[in-house]
Amino acid sequence: MPEDAFLNEGNEVMMSLRTHEVNIGVTCPACKGQGMFHTWDCIDGTDDTAMRQRVLTDEGLFFYECPHCHSQIHMESPCLYINKEDKWMVWHIPDPKSPVTSAEVCTFLGEDSFEEYLCRSALTWGEWREKIIEMESGRDDRLYEIIKYGAYHLIKEEDKKLLPLEAFHVDYADETRQADALALVFLRKDKKGLGYTYPVTPKLLEVTSDIFSPILQRLPNMNSRGRFDRFGYAWAEQLMQYILKAASSGQQGANAYNQLLGFWVQQVGQEIFHAEVRPPQ
Ligand SMILES: [Zn+2]
Repeated sequence: MPEDAFLNEGNEVMMSLRTHEVNIGVTCPACKGQGMFHTWDCIDGTDDTAMRQRVLTDEGLFFYECPHCHSQIHMESPCLYINKEDKWMVWHIPDPKSPVTSAEVCTFLGEDSFEEYLCRSALTWGEWREKIIEMESGRDDRLYEIIKYGAYHLIKEEDKKLLPLEAFHVDYADETRQADALALVFLRKDKKGLGYTYPVTPKLLEVTSDIFSPILQRLPNMNSRGRFDRFGYAWAEQLMQYILKAASSGQQGANAYNQLLGFWVQQVGQEIFHAEVRPPQ
């Protein structure tokens, strides 16, 4: 299909629009040779199951090979992943300053509005894939982000140097890739491909939901559909700081918050690391 075919055709075509491919001109950073990178700016994960599979399993999907010097180049370009059945989208936007227009989204979706959709954004392909996995779990993806934050917070400072935050993520617990069996994966900085997998238990998800869902419900701008939000580690960190501030405010209910958070941290320690954690002061 020519690159701009969907722009020229009628509504009927747009209604059935699926995965969309693009070619991007590339100057090789190694040899300065010119080439074309063939990629996707939209992936329909509902109808295009083969493409969904590639997104989840093909690590070379967004690499460009220079035709001149054969360098492998990791490419970052915008791509919207859509799940029409469960009504959510994850947009990979490598440049956070690049505007996301509603018209663009509607074009890809083939619908007039996306108000019913839960919309997420991601800055890297890794974060994008992780978010798709979280969304497919059927749970509130923000619970995974909160658990991720809590678990990383519990590991020792010297271990953090070996297991950098950038390589820490949510993934499938095992090779069977079950949507509702996810794990926290810590990758080692010194040994490529080597890491540690800690399953996120249903119990921990329940406890985290019991404690944090009511808070998320009450916070403004936290439950909007039709708006692209980036709920990642940095967001969870901000949320936790906000809650800790409320817990130490001395206001009514602050003590209950403190106890709840202490209880939750203990649960993260037990359920993820099978370790006893003393309640924080
Ligand atoms: Zn080259």
